[in-house]
Amino acid sequence: MKNYPLEFVRKDGRRTFAEISILPVRDQAGKICEFRGVGHDITERKKSEEQIRYLATHDGLTGLPNRVLFNQILQHAIQSAKRYGRMFAVFFIDLDRFKMINDTLGHDAGDQLLREVAARFKQTLRTVDTIARLGGDEFVVLIEEIEDLSYVTTVARKILSAVLQPITIMGEECRVTASIGVSSYPKDGEDEQSLMKNADIAMYCAKEDGKNNYKLYSTDIKTQSIERLSIETHLRFALERNEFFLQYQARLDVKTAEITGVEALLRWNNPDLGIVTPTRFIPAAEEMGMIVPIGRWVLKTACLQNVAWQKMGLPPICVSVNLSARQLTDDHLIDDIQRAIDESGLEPRLLELEITESVVMRHPARIAVLGKIKELGVRLAIDDFGTGYSSLAQIRHYPIDTLKIDRSFMRNILANPEDKAIARAIISMGRMLSLTVVAEGVETAEQMTFLQEHACDEIQGFHFSLPVPPEQFAELLRNHSPSSGKSRK
Ligand code: C2E
Ligand code: MG
Ligand code: MG
Repeated sequence: MKNYPLEFVRKDGRRTFAEISILPVRDQAGKICEFRGVGHDITERKKSEEQIRYLATHDGLTGLPNRVLFNQILQHAIQSAKRYGRMFAVFFIDLDRFKMINDTLGHDAGDQLLREVAARFKQTLRTVDTIARLGGDEFVVLIEEIEDLSYVTTVARKILSAVLQPITIMGEECRVTASIGVSSYPKDGEDEQSLMKNADIAMYCAKEDGKNNYKLYSTDIKTQSIERLSIETHLRFALERNEFFLQYQARLDVKTAEITGVEALLRWNNPDLGIVTPTRFIPAAEEMGMIVPIGRWVLKTACLQNVAWQKMGLPPICVSVNLSARQLTDDHLIDDIQRAIDESGLEPRLLELEITESVVMRHPARIAVLGKIKELGVRLAIDDFGTGYSSLAQIRHYPIDTLKIDRSFMRNILANPEDKAIARAIISMGRMLSLTVVAEGVETAEQMTFLQEHACDEIQGFHFSLPVPPEQFAELLRNHSPSSGKSRK
């Protein structure tokens, strides 16, 4: 007996599936003379099988293909691109700040947002392109038959602007952005795994680069991401393994040539990576949240060191410590500063905290934190000033004592009239507001003369001293004679 599934179309147009079992009937001579069959309706079973197949290959929320189906489509695309010598591209799309919307407006709002974004992707792309949702706020797009890479950038821009349009969710107008990474076949990978991995790496770089943009995969990106990964891995253990140390760079009074203060600069000595400078690891430490415990260590160490110099009989000076953006939003910051002062016994006026101009500008709400820091009796400085576009009107509202002119101005101060004019304006503005103005990155005697002529208060830079270990700074402080204005290096 044999079973045959058959598809019928009923008179009313409905599709029906039946399973029919057929049995041949033979005559006395053994010849088949007729067939007898029994059939039964299996439409319901067929439908639920289809439903199961659909659910297994599609995302329930948006109706887009899911990872399973996307992988099949990608495999197919690889085979056909290989056969016909064609190019195609994989776009990895991740929404920026989705977690924040989900957390503040709730999961229903998050779901609504994802559905809306999925609908916009469908509208933006051609029907032949594949869009899938991999999970969370991660989408992936496959664009086949690409002639050249300029088309890839056009598509990436279209996707970014589709996401950027405001979305009203639960009566609130939200704006989201996306970060996109693109890998292309065959340049960036000839198999599924490498194409997906490299698009993901490129997306991560787009995020690092400030979000709301796209990056095409390249070997440069790969090198960067490997370095970043290795920094992240080692950074986790750096504090407990005592791999951090501080160097100290003197600040000099321009008029009297006395050492007025010192900036504590963080260094990381890792057995595998060597000495890593802060610009290479602080962004990673910020993102991982590690900057908070690291910053606490810097504060404590710098305060203890300053007291230790005084105990050696050296004149009291102010030590500056850099604070990062993340530390300013940490609830324990004020307690941490207070503890560093109490445990070291340092007079609060001998501690100055530096915050970069861009951090204050981007988050005006943080001015409240600055006020609390001032209440501890600690000094406050705006670092890298001149790069964050603050206006005189804004700076007046900050409870600060010191302005440090960014070292980029010093580089061309003698040759570039604009840099010269800005430096002059900052100096006179600082004077008007009774702030101490410090020029950073002073490397030459000519720069020093310019600053003297324009009555800048203090300088910091290689011209007077490099950042040095604490013992060497003690030597400098002991032996420096103000009359020379120049130390013995
Ligand atoms: P910054 O606070 O503006 O520090 C001054 C930087 O300029 C230091 O770089 C110093 O070595 C460098 N410098 C000093 N004089 C000269 C000069 O004459 N010419 C040139 N070209 N450079 C000079 P460094 O130590 O690499 O630090 C870079 C940045 O990393 C710092 O800029 C600061 O923003 C950050 N940083 C350093 N230590 C810490 C820390 O403990 N915590 C946080 N959050 N950030 C830190
Ligand atoms: Mg600084
Ligand atoms: Mg600076």
